[in-house]
Amino acid sequence: MTNLKTKTSWNLVNSYAELPEFFYSKINLSKVSSPELVVLNNNLAEYLGLDIGELKSKEGVSYLSGNSLPKGSIPIALAYAGHQFGYFTMLGDGRAILLGEQVTPKGNYDIQLKGSGRTPYSRGGDGRAALSPMLREYIVSEAMHNLNIPTSRSLAVVTSGEPVIREKLLKGAVLTRVASSHIRVGTFEYAANFGTQENVRQLADYTIDRHFRDLAREDSPYLSFLKEVVKRQASLIAKWQLIGFIHGVMNTDNMAISGETIDYGPCAFMDAYNPDTVYSSIDTYGRYAYKNQPQIAVWNLFRFAETLLPLIHENSDKAIKLAQDSVIEFNNLYHKNWISGMRSKLGIFNEEENDESLIELLLNIMLKNNEDYTNTFIKLTFGETLTNETKEFKEWHKKWKARLQRQTQTKEESFELMKNSNPAVIPRNHRVEEALSAADEKGDYSVMDNLIGVLSKPFAHTADQKEYAKLPPPSFCNYKTFCGT
Ligand code: AMP
Ligand code: MG
Repeated sequence: MTNLKTKTSWNLVNSYAELPEFFYSKINLSKVSSPELVVLNNNLAEYLGLDIGELKSKEGVSYLSGNSLPKGSIPIALAYAGHQFGYFTMLGDGRAILLGEQVTPKGNYDIQLKGSGRTPYSRGGDGRAALSPMLREYIVSEAMHNLNIPTSRSLAVVTSGEPVIREKLLKGAVLTRVASSHIRVGTFEYAANFGTQENVRQLADYTIDRHFRDLAREDSPYLSFLKEVVKRQASLIAKWQLIGFIHGVMNTDNMAISGETIDYGPCAFMDAYNPDTVYSSIDTYGRYAYKNQPQIAVWNLFRFAETLLPLIHENSDKAIKLAQDSVIEFNNLYHKNWISGMRSKLGIFNEEENDESLIELLLNIMLKNNEDYTNTFIKLTFGETLTNETKEFKEWHKKWKARLQRQTQTKEESFELMKNSNPAVIPRNHRVEEALSAADEKGDYSVMDNLIGVLSKPFAHTADQKEYAKLPPPSFCNYKTFCGT
């Protein structure tokens, strides 16, 4: 008798590999000695139509480590360039391969292995990744997803059984990253700088077809494409600012055209509110500080727009004007998203002209009093007292209460809005570090599992989240993050 029950499984297509070979390199797998699955994202597996039992099997783990290929995979490393801290350079997937795109009812998703060995773009690197930064990407990307922020996601982490040589010997690992694509601003820069105008068009057409299909029918599809990318970035960066997320390395190669957050390196969440906050150890001049993120996005979008100029208009002056106007529109779009998000965080439904100054006043008070960004909003939501209830704060509080009365919504409605806009927990740096050292040093994944559990519903405001909302110990004051290769 035939088994009629269809098993969920890999269902890969390779649309990127159908582009000219200029855009990628075909890869021979570099095997690892003893792969072991240490984290699996059951929800994401289900979403992708993958069978959990199959993923956990010897064969499944072999795929997740890059030791063998699931059916239908054509492994490639993607070529891209990018501006890193302002300087243009050739890059590419130096330690990642794309297995293909998993077809799901909700769209196709890139399945990428990160840490899977050398590629033609590895330059001096070993193509490998260490366990701790891969677990860090797993925790933070999943937290971002649950905070309703567009992001690449993490399906699994497999240890390789092999050491990687960094400042000291570390455990090697491979992360399976899932994203709606890995097309970056830097991919367009690669095409424009190292290819022909036809290559840029091929990439633009491919990207429009993949992410912005409705635009293909427009009169000026490439200009509309630029505008749409600007719009998505304006929405994304506003979400980062509202939640206190600092990407840390907003190079153009780390900005996805899809509008998802990608490349979790030295990222971190802000504790005490301070617009100058920088965590990345390599960001000496604070280029990617919290307060600079919107303007850096604009800078990156200009680099993107430059690559499209010949497609936007045959007259270069006209093309430049159209592109400039489109990129500058980021500022308006960003501001609209940000202020509307801030209103929600304060339980405000309607719009008043002075709302922005009310918000700025609160932020200034937080800065002066060294108040925690996330917890200030939680305390306002639940009517709890702040650490420093200064006279200035009390006056602000009166103004805010009066502001809430100038809308038709009830107190309860404001409370609900605030609960849904202010997370009870974020992945606090000290909690993430605690989870990573337990996993890496002791092989104890329970600390990480608990953290992931608490972060899975950040707007639930449950009792067990309270412990995770606590501030870091003073020893974390000078917390620094590393690029984590
Ligand atoms: P990232 O800092 O992760 O955005 O990476 C910047 C560039 O360095 C990309 O081209 C990466 O593929 C490459 N890269 C990072 N780590 C390694 C490594 N261990 N081996 C080879 N290439 C790497
Ligand atoms: Mg990168």
